[in-house]
Amino acid sequence: MTDDSSAPLPKLGEQLRQRGLWADKRLGQHFLLDPGILRRIAAAAGALEGMTVLEVGPGPGGLTRALLEAGAARVVAVERDPRFVRHLRELEEHAGGRLTLVEGDALAFDPCSVADGAPIRIVANLPYNVATPLVFLWFEHLACIERMVLMFQKEVALRLVAAPGSADYGRLAVMAQLLCRVERLFDLPPAAFTPPPKVSSSVVRLTPRPDQPSPALRKALGTVTRMAFGQRRKMLRASLKALGGDPSRLLEAAGVEPTRRAEELDVATFRRLAELHLAATTPRA
Ligand code: SAM
Repeated sequence: MTDDSSAPLPKLGEQLRQRGLWADKRLGQHFLLDPGILRRIAAAAGALEGMTVLEVGPGPGGLTRALLEAGAARVVAVERDPRFVRHLRELEEHAGGRLTLVEGDALAFDPCSVADGAPIRIVANLPYNVATPLVFLWFEHLACIERMVLMFQKEVALRLVAAPGSADYGRLAVMAQLLCRVERLFDLPPAAFTPPPKVSSSVVRLTPRPDQPSPALRKALGTVTRMAFGQRRKMLRASLKALGGDPSRLLEAAGVEPTRRAEELDVATFRRLAELHLAATTPRA
């Protein structure tokens, strides 16, 4: 530990070895130690000057360093593993007030609590075991999120950008694409990580759309897509029965043939279905 916050930080790999910090697979720990890759991920979040960035799972702190170096005004890093929170105290000191460490579960963390009146960006090399639930959590907080740059396992990235008719197209694609512009930016092979995971990874940028649905419509979208894709091989007139009422009338009003299957509908049609479902289930004043 150094008292001089202007002294250069030691190399990440060396620090991990010296401190006996090993990767715990139960927490999805696969680290990125290459400064070039880390800078590329931080750059994908755009100019960070003046911005508050939320990072989930800083681990050894490579991405955290890159975000600070890129000029973020404040990085709030939520880490579940206390060993890494202790390890990161040095970087916190070095960052002179720009880094806030939070020890805890990101699934229980409200991203808007750090927004302080201005929207934030989220940048993370996500723990793959909780990546999808985290994204669904953040979909409920898009009012305070300006952009997200996230590393997923490639299979999940493909599901995020999937088009109707493909095997990857499902609830995740519909919700993500309705709420955000979704771009798969670049892939990384397992060897880019320490230790290497079994799968390839992709960096995805999600930019919330300006025309966000109301919370009630977002909830209706969640319900309709859950029903429709819950039984994706069934025709919609059968899979949407669980919504209550007569699904054929809802489908007809949306201009959808009742014999269609969920994977054939584009995201705009899902929005229309959710709007009609919401209108049909909202009590009149
Ligand atoms: N950002 C680091 C990097 O790129 O090298 C580490 C990424 S590693 C894939 C995922 C990190 O998320 C680990 O540090 C792990 O301890 C942490 N983590 C796992 N589950 C978490 C949770 N529920 N909340 C917060 N952090 C979590």
